[in-house]
Amino acid sequence: MIEDDRDIVATTQFLDSSDHPLWKYSDAVMHRKCFEAWDQRQFFVDEYNRLLGSAVFLGSFKHPMDDDGNVTTVSVHN
Ligand SMILES: [Zn+2]
Repeated sequence: MIEDDRDIVATTQFLDSSDHPLWKYSDAVMHRKCFEAWDQRQFFVDEYNRLLGSAVFLGSFKHPMDDDGNVTTVSVHN
């Protein structure tokens, strides 16, 4: 049962191929406890950051995921 945002890890679509091993976890919601115990967690975070978290929005911001599954906002300085 999902009760509020602190208990879940949710992502938008960040993979572009259904052949990717993490495909079913993209654009999906996971319980945070399940995410933390997941053996592919670091791979997921790394892939998220490689494909989406490294993108610069509005020339100023990135939204990388930390190791706990929280998507953060960081300023980009030239
Ligand atoms: Zn679960």
